[in-house]
Amino acid sequence: MKYNCDLISDLLPLYKDDICSEVTKKIVEEHLAECPECKKMLADMSDVTIDEKIVKEKDEVINSQAKFFKRKSAFAGSIIALIFSIPILVCLIVNLATGAGLTWFFIVLAGILVAASLIIVPLMVPENKMFTTMAAFTGSVLLLLGIIAIYTRGSWFLVAASSTLFGLTMLFAPFIAFRRPVNAYLKNHKGLAIMSAYTVTFAFMMFCIGLYTGMKTFAPMAFAIAMPLVAMCWAFFAIIRYLRFNACTKVGLCIISSGILSGVLSMLAGNAEKVVSNTGVSYSTPTLPLMLSICGVGILIAGIGFLIGMFKGGKKNENK
Ligand SMILES: [Zn+2]
Repeated sequence: MKYNCDLISDLLPLYKDDICSEVTKKIVEEHLAECPECKKMLADMSDVTIDEKIVKEKDEVINSQAKFFKRKSAFAGSIIALIFSIPILVCLIVNLATGAGLTWFFIVLAGILVAASLIIVPLMVPENKMFTTMAAFTGSVLLLLGIIAIYTRGSWFLVAASSTLFGLTMLFAPFIAFRRPVNAYLKNHKGLAIMSAYTVTFAFMMFCIGLYTGMKTFAPMAFAIAMPLVAMCWAFFAIIRYLRFNACTKVGLCIISSGILSGVLSMLAGNAEKVVSNTGVSYSTPTLPLMLSICGVGILIAGIGFLIGMFKGGKKNENK
């Protein structure tokens, strides 16, 4: 053998990854043809590289740890569920013993379900913890309201349920929109989707309140007051999200739009004012001078923002 095994074993990694010169390659191949020991060393090397081994081991450790914690949290969830079942059982027995049938027991049950949805559900559910918890919480709150409405013979259920739905949408929609897999569907329109969800649930809430209080008096007043305000929220959103101006100009534009919409409010609310004054609540619409001064402030700020933008743009061009 021309070269000894130590030298060849040093060269083997380079040979295996094919990053050596033709001369080295030839020397190694000649040696391998004669030396079974070095041939075996090369075979071992090609089997799995050290990097692959480390990655595989790491994945195994992470997976077993995740499984361990999942089992632990499921166990904790079952224990808490057991503890929760104690007051449920006690109330069941007491209610059966004291009343003719089950009455307030269902209120207790639904109340405990609300707590359970926040504590037990996230511990027990393996995937999509957040969505499942939110859904369970919303469902159990609506159930609680429904049971109380039945028990007290209230006709207010739709009002309470739709308001709860609106409030929870305000709270949950941003989290839902930015989480997988929803964010993949929405792409760059997360804000638009959130605003739409708010508007739909708000309209539903107003509709339910209208049904409850009587559409004839409620609808014109609600429309006149709510519509310009909703329009203003959308105007703010559109200006901030979609226009390509600097922050100062956007602030100015928002103030202008609120000035304009307060004008719309004054026009629409003439009818509403009459209805509201019947109820004894004092309510006055924005006056023309107020509206004009709001717009004036907005134009001033937007103008300053526009000038800053022009100045900066000019400087950029100079630097080029
Ligand atoms: Zn050798």
